[in-house]
Amino acid sequence: MALVVQKFGGTSVADPEKIKAAAAKAIARHAAGDQVVVVVSAMGHQTDILVDLAKAITDRPSAREMDMLLSTGEQVSVALFAMAIHAAGHKAVSLTGAQIGIRTDSTHTKARIRSISTDHVKGLLDSGAIVIAAGFQGIDQNGNITTLGRGGSDTTAVALAAVLDADLCEIYTDVDGIYTTDPRLLPEARRLESIAYDEMLELASLGAGVMHSRSIEFAKKFGVKVVVRSSFKDLPGTMILAADQAVCRPVSGVALAKDEARITLEGAPDQPGSSHALFSSLAESGIAVDMIVQNVGQGGRAGISFTVPEDDLDNALDRTRAVAASIGAEGVSHDGGVAKVSVVGVGMEAAEGVAGRMFTALSAEKINVHMITTSEIKISALVDRADGPAAVRAVHKAFGLEHGDGGPPCGAAGALPKSSPLDVVRRLEGMEDLAIEDCLLDSSQALVTFADLPDTPGVAADVFQEVGRAGLVVDMIVQSNPRDGHAEISFTVPAASRDKAIEVATRIAAARGATVADVPHVSKLSITGVGIRSHAGVADRLFMPLAQAGVNIDLVSTSEVRLNVVVAAEHGEKSLAVLRKAFGLA
Ligand code: ASP
Ligand code: MG
Repeated sequence: MALVVQKFGGTSVADPEKIKAAAAKAIARHAAGDQVVVVVSAMGHQTDILVDLAKAITDRPSAREMDMLLSTGEQVSVALFAMAIHAAGHKAVSLTGAQIGIRTDSTHTKARIRSISTDHVKGLLDSGAIVIAAGFQGIDQNGNITTLGRGGSDTTAVALAAVLDADLCEIYTDVDGIYTTDPRLLPEARRLESIAYDEMLELASLGAGVMHSRSIEFAKKFGVKVVVRSSFKDLPGTMILAADQAVCRPVSGVALAKDEARITLEGAPDQPGSSHALFSSLAESGIAVDMIVQNVGQGGRAGISFTVPEDDLDNALDRTRAVAASIGAEGVSHDGGVAKVSVVGVGMEAAEGVAGRMFTALSAEKINVHMITTSEIKISALVDRADGPAAVRAVHKAFGLEHGDGGPPCGAAGALPKSSPLDVVRRLEGMEDLAIEDCLLDSSQALVTFADLPDTPGVAADVFQEVGRAGLVVDMIVQSNPRDGHAEISFTVPAASRDKAIEVATRIAAARGATVADVPHVSKLSITGVGIRSHAGVADRLFMPLAQAGVNIDLVSTSEVRLNVVVAAEHGEKSLAVLRKAFGLA
């Protein structure tokens, strides 16, 4: 007998007929001998309708009352779902978040789960009932109803699967799985048989949009086996698994984040503390910063660029301007009309020429790249919003994603040991907290920087094509936001390839009137874990201790699951010690 959590999204329970069809799926599972917990979203667009209703009353509804209102959507759907099961002659009990015992913090409209009690649900399951749980909601310590943020039913489902030690968590939705890119944007997009948690994390908040990122964080943290499949078609869907179980490819998918805005703190003093001042202020106001790119800096000044969701632009600009004035930066610039295109793949680390291929594809479409940032499994480029769809098309094609689902499974690392229910309960305290897995130091790299490259389409492509042709294995790539028509691109290579890299770089630069600077030995520090991007303030938890230790940061790049900084080689060991302490790592 297995325990299965089935989650049905709004479109899967949009009307009574669909509710009956979904109920039939739960009944079939139960009849096959499994215990079944169903997590349901509000019917159709009910949550949007409720949001509009609130807006019709006031521009500024209180967050507590918003939660009171929004939680009713799921209360309606669970009751109807249970009735549908009863009508078919089976046992079911519907429960609200509070009745289950889903405890959250008090951050109304985006609460985080603190703990879940399992006794009540288990008792009902053992009595032979199907349990219908309201998604998206919980209760804080004072008994207030809270909600988990839009799309939060996925998180409820995966969290319940984790605490109940379920064998499988099925996410039923209106798409039949995870695609190589958004099929509405690109008809050639193909369904993936499997995808790694990290790939999904990198893709989820990048615009793949199929599942709530936080639910994947949970799944990864607790090793929950998730499958995303269609409610309406009988297809296998896509399994979301640990990296060593999913199919490994240099690039699995391409994502577009359309509504980004870019802000640059221009000419910040290039000294310890500038980044800390900026990112602590942004974190205080709860703004989740996405791409962070800091250039190498000249004449004692560096530019720090970052992106935020466009909705947060005004707020973030106010904060940045205040910081600029207080630390004596030269100014603040911004651009509200940008989009981020990313390629993601757990096999990227071992593959060569991925960057070159991506930038060449963009250049062939004459798409200008404003900023670049990389992690081990992702390359992101910031482009004009209008270029976004064409960029996705070009990159998808360049990696042949419309064909085969190829490649051997990735290396042996990564499978989580099966945790006992007790373990899970013990870890529940602060369950959604940021989980920092490790802090790594790599002092084997050299840093090469091009200054004054002309900011025209194709520059990055030319650079990384030539770099690739020369057989150089590039690790981190950062392109800062151009200033006065000139871009700065930095990359790191193994220190042993430094001479060759300089030779190639000098040749590339000479042909373009640019200059090359290099640091023969640098230290790269990587913080890895889950929740790195969705937790405002992670960046600052890294910048603050470094600033206090007097360490200047040369280069920064970010992703969902990783934050990399490059510092002078002589600061490597000290920085590692400081960061390990700051993040409570042994
Ligand atoms: N009903 C909520 C929403 O629309 C939660 C969910 O569907 O996951 O955001
Ligand atoms: Mg939904």
